[in-house]
Amino acid sequence: SKRDVTVLGLGTMGRALAGALLAGGARVTVWNRTPGREGDLVAGGAVAAASAAEAVAASRTVVVCLLDHASVHEVLDPVADRLAGRVLVELTNGSPEQAGELAGWAGRHGVELLSGGIMAVPPMIGTPAAFVLYSGSRAVFEEQRPLLDLLGESVFAGEEPGRAALQDLALLSAMYGMFGGVLHAYALAGAGGVAAGELAPLLRRWLGAMSDFVDGAAAQIDSGDHARDVVSNLAMQAAAYPGLVAVSRAHGVDPALLTPLGELMRRRVDDGHGHEDITGVVELLRTREGSR
Ligand code: NDP
Repeated sequence: SKRDVTVLGLGTMGRALAGALLAGGARVTVWNRTPGREGDLVAGGAVAAASAAEAVAASRTVVVCLLDHASVHEVLDPVADRLAGRVLVELTNGSPEQAGELAGWAGRHGVELLSGGIMAVPPMIGTPAAFVLYSGSRAVFEEQRPLLDLLGESVFAGEEPGRAALQDLALLSAMYGMFGGVLHAYALAGAGGVAAGELAPLLRRWLGAMSDFVDGAAAQIDSGDHARDVVSNLAMQAAAYPGLVAVSRAHGVDPALLTPLGELMRRRVDDGHGHEDITGVVELLRTREGSR
């Protein structure tokens, strides 16, 4: 039935996915390479299959969440025939190229593929905080939505197989930039005797306010006009930035996470773009034609 779903891979994420599907009333079959990872899923009503082939045969929709692309092929290649005519929802982290490769594989085996990117950590799965990006056939996406929506908000990224992965990796890149900034902020504050817990409410407030940057920057970058609506010109920012680096060094904090951006800002100013916004740095990040 349409409420039948199989989950291959019961790592931290796979267990969260299976748990949310169960909680949503789906009939869930699970399988994991190493037995015994079912935890309380079976007590919650899930069926533990003895093999991947048996698990695939149990449901029309097969969710796979393993370590990486290689492990996905390791598990799916031997059961490709059984997957024919079913819907594969692939939620393993990977690149757009890997998603494209799997789409070709799925096409050759008569499998409908949705390639997803999970924008959540396991405890967020099944809550409104989670969203999952999907690319593949829009018709298949719409058909699967009742199940997919149990995991979090389902966001369609486009029919091109790699689009969900591309957007996922772009979002993760920004997340790591933020993690780097937060870690540096705590190190610097700590070196001056301010505990992380004391800085935290200010930091949360500041990052919230500065998140408006996202939309303004998008407008400048898409128009290619980095001089439009400039509030904080780059020359001013580049003049203040070395102070961040210097104060870090003076307090015994390695500025390694700060310096790369400072160098790009300086280069941009030296190239005559000091009157523009910091968004012009994106032009220096594009290292070949066609990357915009
Ligand atoms: P875990 O390390 O907890 O689980 C990894 C899973 O992959 C296990 O079920 C493991 O099986 C299986 N596996 C690894 N290699 C193979 C193989 N060769 N053949 C068969 N099975 C294999 O990872 P997570 O569950 O946390 O993550 C799973 C995916 O979800 C990853 O791609 C991750 O990037 C993505 N993700 C995770 C997030 C998170 O915060 N955890 C957030 C967003 C995405 P076994 O038990 O037998 O080792």
